[in-house]
Amino acid sequence: MELRSQVPEGPIEGRWEKHRFEMKLVNPANKRRFNVIVVGSGLAGASAAASLAELGYNVKCFCYQDSPRRAHSIAAQGGINAAKNYQNDGDSVFRLFYDTVKGGDFRAREANVYRLAELSVSIIDQCVAQGVPFAREYGGTLANRSFGGAQVSRTFYARGQTGQQLLLGAYQALERQIGAGKVQMYPRHEMLDLVLIDGRARGIVTRDMVTGAVESWAADAVVLGTGGYGNVFYLATYCKGANATAIWRAYKRGAAFGNPCFTQIHPTCIPVTGEHQSKLTLMSESLRNDGRIWVPRKKGDKRPPDQIPEDERDYYLERKYPSFGNLVPRDVASRNAKQVCDEGRGVGETGYGVYLDFADAIKRLGATAIGEKYGNLFEMYERITAEDPYRVPMRIYPASHYTMGGLWVDYNLMSTIPGLHVMGEANFSDHGANRLGASALMQGLADGYFIIPYTIGHYLASNTLGKVETSNVAFKQVEGEVGARVSKMLSIKGKRTVDSFHRELGRIMWEHCGMARNEAGLKEALQEIPALREQFWSDVNVLGANEEMNQSLEKAGRVADFLELGELMCLDALERRESCGGHFREEYQTPEGEALRDDNNFTHVAAWEYTGPDSRPIRHQEPLSFEYVHLTQRSYK
Ligand SMILES: Cc1cc2nc3c(=O)[nH]c(=O)nc-3n(C[C@H](O)[C@H](O)[C@H](O)COP(=O)(O)OP(=O)(O)OC[C@H]3O[C@@H](n4cnc5c(N)ncnc54)[C@H](O)[C@@H]3O)c2cc1C
Repeated sequence: MELRSQVPEGPIEGRWEKHRFEMKLVNPANKRRFNVIVVGSGLAGASAAASLAELGYNVKCFCYQDSPRRAHSIAAQGGINAAKNYQNDGDSVFRLFYDTVKGGDFRAREANVYRLAELSVSIIDQCVAQGVPFAREYGGTLANRSFGGAQVSRTFYARGQTGQQLLLGAYQALERQIGAGKVQMYPRHEMLDLVLIDGRARGIVTRDMVTGAVESWAADAVVLGTGGYGNVFYLATYCKGANATAIWRAYKRGAAFGNPCFTQIHPTCIPVTGEHQSKLTLMSESLRNDGRIWVPRKKGDKRPPDQIPEDERDYYLERKYPSFGNLVPRDVASRNAKQVCDEGRGVGETGYGVYLDFADAIKRLGATAIGEKYGNLFEMYERITAEDPYRVPMRIYPASHYTMGGLWVDYNLMSTIPGLHVMGEANFSDHGANRLGASALMQGLADGYFIIPYTIGHYLASNTLGKVETSNVAFKQVEGEVGARVSKMLSIKGKRTVDSFHRELGRIMWEHCGMARNEAGLKEALQEIPALREQFWSDVNVLGANEEMNQSLEKAGRVADFLELGELMCLDALERRESCGGHFREEYQTPEGEALRDDNNFTHVAAWEYTGPDSRPIRHQEPLSFEYVHLTQRSYK
C-alpha cells in the first residue's frame, strides 16, 4: 500500500489555489453523465450532496435516520471557527492554521490545515447567505466567542444550537436538489459494505432498515461522510446510532485507517451516575468562556459548593495555565480533571466530577445575559440533573466525544481505494492528535461545500471509468456476504444482549485506551477484546427477524464492528510510544505531567492496512513535516 498525500508544492498560502487550477475539470454538460454516491447526510454529507448536485452530478444520498435532518451534526452546540477577524483582536488565516497545528500537537498535515483555515471564511459567507441565524451583536454584525486553545474570539454560534442551524442550512440546500431531481435521497438505508470493481470503489450494498431488503447501488465514485466512532466507548456524547460500520467495512476492503487511537475525550460532560446510563450529555465548551472550573483544595471535602470559601477552592486551570486559564485545549482540560479526581478532590457522589461555576459571570454580567448566551444548555443541564446552574455550579467530567482518527485520505480527500472519498469526522482529519473546539463543523463544511466538489471532478476527469451495473458479479458477491452475516447474527440465539457486549467493550476501552493509556493496560485490552468478540459470535441474542424494523439487529452489526475496531485502536495506541494530544501514554510525560512527544520517531500518521481476519494489520507511515509551524513542546502556561 502506498500513501501518497498529493500535497501540492509551493508556498503554503498558494497551494490550494494552484491545485484548484491544476485539477482537471468536468465540462458542465458532461457532469450529468456521472453518478456519485454520498453516504451520510450530516454537515459533511449534506453539504457535499447538495453541492455536487448543484454542479450537475447525479447524486444518491443515504442515511440511516428517517430524515437527513436528524444526522448527528444536529447535536453540535457551541460553534464554528472562522478566521474572519471581525473582533479585530489579531486573528488571521495564519493564526487559525497555527492554533490548529499546535492544538493537534503536531500530528496533522500542514497543507490540509492551512486550506481548512483559508476556507473557514467562505463557510461563514455561505451559511449566512443560506440564512443561518448566527448570533449577532446589537449593531447587527456577527458575534463571536472564544473556544479552547485560542487567544482570539473566532467562534460563530447560534446560541447552543449551532449544529442544528448549520444543518438546517445544508439540509435545505439538499432538499432543493431533491426537489430538482438531482439528488435521490435514501433515508433508513444503512450501508453495510463497499463494492470494488477493478480496484476502484464502484458502489455500496445497503440494508433497508424498514423491510430488511439487501440492495446494491452503483456509481462512478463513492463519498463517505458517516461521522465518528467514539461510541466504541459505549458511554459517549454521540447520538446512540453513531457507528463505524461504513468506514470499518471500507477498511476491510482496502482503505487504510489513519491514527485509530486518536480520540477526543471532552472535558465538559455531565458525569456518569451509574450502570443504568446509556449515553452521556455534553455541556458545550463555550461554557468555559464564562464558567470557572474548580475543585476543593482539600481531599474528600464533601461540603456543598456554596459552603466552601474562596481560599479553599482550587481553580486549577487558572492556576496552572495563566495565559489560557479555563480555555486550555480539551486534552489538557480533560487530563487535569482526571488528575484532580484521582487525587481524591473530585466532587459529586462518585467523586468523578469538577465544578463549572457561573457565579462570578452572573455577578458581572447578570443572569439575563448569561441566559441569552447559554440558556438552552442550562435548561438541558437542569432537566438531566435537577440542579439549577444559575444557582449551583454545574458538575462536569470528561467523556468520549470525537474521533480524530478515521480513514486515511490524501489532499483530495481520497482514500487508498481509488474513487472512495471520505469527509468530515469519518476521515482521519486535519486535527492531528487533538481537535480544537468548534473545528469539526468547520472541517465537515469545508470538505463538503468547498473541497469535494473540485476533487471529485478531478478524479472523474482523470480516469476512464467504464459503466457498471448492479447485476455485476462483484455486487452479487458482496450482497451474498452481507446477507450471510445478517443471518448468522440472527441465528446465534445466545444468552447475552447486544448492549451487554457493547457496555463491556466500552469499559475495556475506557479503562485501557481512554484518557490515559499504558503498555500493560493496552496489552491486557488486546487479550480481552478478541475474547469478548469470540463470545459475541457464540452467545449474542439478536431479537426479531431481518424482514422488519429491527433495532436489535442494527445494533448488533455496529457492535460487531466496534469489537474489531476497538482492537485496532488499542494496537495503534500501543505502537505509538509517545504521548501527543488526546493520546496520553503514561510512560511518556514531562515532569509537570504534560504529554511528551517523541518527534524523532513518531512525527507521522500511522495508517493501518487490513490483511485478513486472523492476521495482524500492517502499520504504514506517512511522514509529516513542519515547515511553517515549528515543532515545539506545546505550552498553554
Ligand atoms: C454533543 C456534541 C456537540 C458538538 N458540538 C460541536 C461544536 O459546537 N462545534 C464543532 O465544531 N463540533 C462539535 N461537535 C462535533 C461535530 O458535531 C461532529 O464532528 C460533526 O457534526 C460530524 O459531522 P459529519 O457530517 O462528519 O457526521 P454526522 O453528523 O455524524 O453524520 C453522519 C451521517 O452518516 C450517516 N451514516 C453513518 N453511518 C451510515 C451507514 N452505515 N449507512 C448510511 N448512513 C450512515 C448518518 O445517518 C448521518 O447522516 C459536537 C459533537 C457532539 C457529540
